[in-house]
Amino acid sequence: MPGPRVAILGVILESNRQSAVATKAEFESFYVLEGDAVIEAARAETSVIAPEASTFVKTMDVTGEWEPVPVLLAACHPLGPIDQALHEEYLGKIRAGLEAAGQLDAVYIANHGAMVATESQDPDGDIIMAARDIIGPDVPIVVTLDLHANISDEMVAGSDLIVGYRTNPHVDMIERGEEAALSMRLILAGRAAPQMCVVRLPMTPASVALLSAQEPYGSMIDLGQRRKAEEASRILNVSVFGGFVYSDTSYNGVAVVVTARNDMAEAKKIANEIAQFGWENREKFMRQLTSIEDGVAMAMDHERLPVIYADAGDNPGGGGTGRSTDLLKALVDADAQNVLYGSYCDPPLAKAAHAAGMGGAFTAELNTLPGTPSDYPLTYEAEVVGLHDGNVVGRLGLLAGRQMHLGPSAAIRIGGITVVVISDRTQTADPMFFEMFGLDIGEAQTVVVKSRGHFRAGFIPWFPPERVYEIDTDGLVSPILHRRQWQYLPRPVFPLDDDVTWEPKEA
Ligand SMILES: [Zn+2]
Repeated sequence: MPGPRVAILGVILESNRQSAVATKAEFESFYVLEGDAVIEAARAETSVIAPEASTFVKTMDVTGEWEPVPVLLAACHPLGPIDQALHEEYLGKIRAGLEAAGQLDAVYIANHGAMVATESQDPDGDIIMAARDIIGPDVPIVVTLDLHANISDEMVAGSDLIVGYRTNPHVDMIERGEEAALSMRLILAGRAAPQMCVVRLPMTPASVALLSAQEPYGSMIDLGQRRKAEEASRILNVSVFGGFVYSDTSYNGVAVVVTARNDMAEAKKIANEIAQFGWENREKFMRQLTSIEDGVAMAMDHERLPVIYADAGDNPGGGGTGRSTDLLKALVDADAQNVLYGSYCDPPLAKAAHAAGMGGAFTAELNTLPGTPSDYPLTYEAEVVGLHDGNVVGRLGLLAGRQMHLGPSAAIRIGGITVVVISDRTQTADPMFFEMFGLDIGEAQTVVVKSRGHFRAGFIPWFPPERVYEIDTDGLVSPILHRRQWQYLPRPVFPLDDDVTWEPKEA
């Protein structure tokens, strides 16, 4: 028996509606793999691909016979909408791959779930529906999604099981890949015939309010896991998606997806119960940020314990440009000392630092490339204190064990601030961003990172939650939602509007 034939595919992008269009070059600078290259990358010890996808393959490998049918795995760092022509090109590859595959027993899709296209409103739904269209109604489709996915009705209608991350910072991608594979085995063995329901709330919290260790989101996730454990014979999966408000879609909103193993009534009951708990506790989704002024004042106080700041408005992990300058300028103007600041994505600046050489003094021109109004140019005298090719393996948290290609990178000293400069737009979620230059995080008085929340897992050895501050900086992912123009969000919606009501639907 050769075992079941399972197609593998996925297109990963988290789209911030106002960020630059995600082009083919942007995808290719991260990864685009087809055919056998998909399986080679998935089975490698370390690789660049999403851990849930590689774990799905490795778990299928060790749980019995199977024949993987690799189609396409593509990913781009969080950016804007995918270029429509590229979306259609990938859809075409997926259709062609599935059509050429012959008889399939199942499909596994590794998407992020918060993608928009320059024209299509729901590219994730398009991909799932395209697969469903080709394989027919009886072949199971199992999908893994990020916790920041925006769940459309098409995504639920087209798939049999959606497995979402349960942790933010994301540290459970391996477990979710295992869960997807083990559930796939159950379904293929005829021991589960999953059916899904979704309850979506008119509520779009900022990403900073969706930490799984904090209220009320953490309790929504916990409640789901308790109910799943109590009803294990009837419920296959409970996923509570926080959504990604910056995608600005008509189907944005915290979404509870419950997959019944065999009892839809129970699944609907649980979905409504979790949604109701989140709704009743919605005021707890509001977050207080620290102003730049207060952040600078704290940086000037050398009596206190070391702290870490999130440059909250400019997280490349949410589509930020990674080179807004407000906070850096304020710290330089105040002559703050013993600060580590990572990481500016500024390829010309990295190149200039490499040209100056280790120990070299040079005039650092930040933001010579055009950008958003927050990415204004600055010129400082600087010294090169570290050079690197940017090829490193992540060490802690989201990026642990994952290959990173940051491009030519440098550490430059501007007064009392050591600034890490990279050439590939990646959020500073891992200590390696500093450690690759031999910089000691434990020696710094103030660390600043361009990351929204994932840095919490990467920097936990130095900075417990009470020493983390989210600084209210400008940028494409500012958590202050009313500062932004919204185009497609369902209105009214909490917290943008006052007159929002919601009632659980009858199961
Ligand atoms: Zn996420």
